[in-house]
Amino acid sequence: MQVRFWGTRGSIATPGPATIHFGGNTACVEVTTSAGACFILDCGTGARALGAALVTNATKPIVATILLSHTHWDHIQGFPFFAPLFVPGNRITVCGPEGSGQSLREVLSGQMEFTYFPVEIAQLPATIIFRELGEGIHLIDGVKIIAQYLNHPAMTLGYRIEADGAAVVYLCDHEPFSPTLLHDSQEFSGFESIVHEGDRRHAQFMAGASLVIHDAQYTPEEYPSKKNWGHSTYEYAAEVAALAGVQQLILTHHDPIHDDSFVADIEKRARDYVRELGYEVDVCCAYEGLDLAVGPYSAPYLADKTLADKTLEDKTLGDKPLTDKSQTDKPLAPQADHDLLRGRRILVVDDDPDIRALASLALTQDGHTMIEASNGPDALALIAEQMPDLLVLDLQMPEQGGLEVLKILRSKPDTAALPVVVLTAMDDEETIRAGFELGATDYVTKPFSIPQLAARVRACLQRTE
Ligand SMILES: [Zn+2]
Ligand SMILES: [Zn+2]
Repeated sequence: MQVRFWGTRGSIATPGPATIHFGGNTACVEVTTSAGACFILDCGTGARALGAALVTNATKPIVATILLSHTHWDHIQGFPFFAPLFVPGNRITVCGPEGSGQSLREVLSGQMEFTYFPVEIAQLPATIIFRELGEGIHLIDGVKIIAQYLNHPAMTLGYRIEADGAAVVYLCDHEPFSPTLLHDSQEFSGFESIVHEGDRRHAQFMAGASLVIHDAQYTPEEYPSKKNWGHSTYEYAAEVAALAGVQQLILTHHDPIHDDSFVADIEKRARDYVRELGYEVDVCCAYEGLDLAVGPYSAPYLADKTLADKTLEDKTLGDKPLTDKSQTDKPLAPQADHDLLRGRRILVVDDDPDIRALASLALTQDGHTMIEASNGPDALALIAEQMPDLLVLDLQMPEQGGLEVLKILRSKPDTAALPVVVLTAMDDEETIRAGFELGATDYVTKPFSIPQLAARVRACLQRTE
């Protein structure tokens, strides 16, 4: 596989003399397999120059797949300027996670309404196919693409592309699930030594990869004031990549306030950090124009049970003729299930009425019906009466703590598998570990943001179905 960076900036395009080396265009990476399959990871402003190059070099109609991590501006603003969309005969498949309340097609059409852009999406002459992806293994153009949710205040997918005996993993935008990565010993003895199941899943996802492209927007000094904004530090990216046996790590999604010398310093600090820890990962910061041939992986993706169950057979479009250019709804790969992800009944258990109100606001906006309880006994009584689809559970409550409630739920056959998202201010390693050992499905720490909680609940609903 060949990988080329066309956009490396996060948040907003940042052109100018201070960003000439690392680049000012927002997220866009081109991945090409030896068989000629073309994947475009995110469609930030870097997609303009990529599109122009594809059109210039094309000897036949362009077939390409855009894999969107999510639809925040810095990942879609290059789409209206992507030249292959303006050429009849080209076929562009746009994949991404389901948006909140709107389909992927609606979200991308929205930024091209005449108020914002002179050409509407329906006027584009190329064939454009939209695919909403869920977590799981997808076969697209004969290539294995594995998708997994990231931790970001929006439904966001990371992608692992496996072809030519190599694996390229793209993980933007993402932030650590837990302030502590490893159990107290700080010694890595397999993935089990990672405290939070979310971080463990994240590390396993990149296991043995040839190349990992990871969000590293903030320095460790900046991160505390940017918590819950959905981005990582180079330290976290280096640690998980090293633990996962990744061969090469490229840091990207550079912050707009970081000029070239600042990003160069991050690169140096990341290399020093990796060396200090005794790891052998090759680390650098992405720059526009960085072009590299990816070597073989040391291990293919080891699907865990939940993902293996969702593996679908190859439904690649191949060369089947497409007669309807507006075709948007026929699945090519597993689709996110709209009914599954919204309209569920969720019980919020917290003694703080403000937290219950905030959680309810977050989840009703996502189409769910909320029920509330202010303590453990009331929650257990409500569950016995009318089983919810998911529980959001505080830990520190008078009378009966959340861990006690969780223990009772897991001991009963009816509620043994009920998804439980712990929502607590307790972010110490011991309590996080206790939460997972007692069977928490996810563990979210306060303070939280509305889109963050909504995304985590949706990921849980999809995973536990
Ligand atoms: Zn971003
Ligand atoms: Zn984002």
